[in-house]
Amino acid sequence: MERIIKFTDEHNQFREMARKFFEAEVKPYHEQWEKDHIVPRETWKKAGQNGLLCPDFPEEYGGSGADFLYNAIIIEESAKVGNSGFFLSLHNDIIAPYISEYANDEQKKRWMPGCASGDHILAIAMTEPNAGSDLKGIRTVAEDKGDHFIVNGQKTFISNGQLATLVITAVKTSEDAMSLVMVEAGMPGFERGRNLDKIGLKAQDTSELHFTDVKVPKENLIGKKGQGFRYLMQKLAKERLALALSAVEATQLVQNITLKYIKERQAFGKQIGSFQHIKFKMAEMATELAMCRVFCDQATLALMNGTLQTAEASMAKWYSTEMQKRHTDECLQFFGGYGYMMEYPIARAFLDARVQTIYAGTTEIMKEIIGRSLGL
Ligand SMILES: Cc1cc2nc3c(=O)[nH]c(=O)nc-3n(C[C@H](O)[C@H](O)[C@H](O)COP(=O)(O)OP(=O)(O)OC[C@H]3O[C@@H](n4cnc5c(N)ncnc54)[C@H](O)[C@@H]3O)c2cc1C
Repeated sequence: MERIIKFTDEHNQFREMARKFFEAEVKPYHEQWEKDHIVPRETWKKAGQNGLLCPDFPEEYGGSGADFLYNAIIIEESAKVGNSGFFLSLHNDIIAPYISEYANDEQKKRWMPGCASGDHILAIAMTEPNAGSDLKGIRTVAEDKGDHFIVNGQKTFISNGQLATLVITAVKTSEDAMSLVMVEAGMPGFERGRNLDKIGLKAQDTSELHFTDVKVPKENLIGKKGQGFRYLMQKLAKERLALALSAVEATQLVQNITLKYIKERQAFGKQIGSFQHIKFKMAEMATELAMCRVFCDQATLALMNGTLQTAEASMAKWYSTEMQKRHTDECLQFFGGYGYMMEYPIARAFLDARVQTIYAGTTEIMKEIIGRSLGL
């Protein structure tokens, strides 16, 4: 069945280039990055040179003025090689839009070209030790001192936390108002804490961040003071769709490697894939994945024409990530003991899949949002 998204020849050429990049520059090095718990800056620069960072930025700011399908292609080709450490989508689809949409012209000139070249690596710092799902509960404060803010607080679980040169930081600017400020690497008082030890995403430098009397000039306020929460809510739909697209492709990869294995592995004188239980399970999973892809493709088209509803993005996110988690678990079972060995990619896929239903809004929060849209 053809996909409902009509990719042009240009999109297909871009896909081919992206595919080669991930095969040559990511796949062979991923295992080493997992040992290092970080991806080299050099790889970010190479991605920038290949037009894989912020392709949707206007040309005057270093991008190619591309449509979201180019971003979607990057997400898909990245997932196809099992990449779980080099967070291009976080940079491209989740954080950069805050700059391209809410920053003023001077800020755009200052930050966007570096984001597109890989000289800047982005992070977004919302979560705190005592506030994750309940974002309004953050305690990091930015005290208004006229021409600058003084920022104090602590963030945790921040992706790209060690590498980031620009950190969009959610701060309280009054008891009931949140703002977004750009904290830059090297600002006195801004310090990186531990690169956290996780069960998966081993190549990701997910970290704690500390802010002690950090002087942030007013020129680094993103958008209007007090509008931070609204900006975050507006942009989360794109973030959730990006996550959903990655989940679909990661599930496809898991099914592909499992199919290969169950066609080769023999038991009781037969390919294990010929046992009815395994055959039916694979058939069910292939069906569910195909249907989920159609929904996510439809959501992608809706995002592009500006009609994607928050609840629809939440549906795409919770369903596809829960599917990825469930399928990866079921597929691992078909590898028997080998599925439990880290040298088998299915084991890593299992560990990497677990976080998908937690970050970028948990499954429960997605269902809350959908429930609210139903008037409940
Ligand atoms: C690897 C990784 C990378 C991350 N990257 C980033 C990042 O770059 N930037 C960033 O800001 N954050 C990041 N996070 C944080 C992530 O977004 C939060 O962990 C997530 O939002 C959940 O918040 P929490 O951990 O505080 O859990 P809690 O909010 O404490 O939730 C605990 C449990 O309670 C449930 N729950 C909470 N509220 C409700 C409710 N109203 N109804 C029903 N159930 C509810 C949750 O669904 C969950 O099951 C990352 C997390 C991880 C693990």
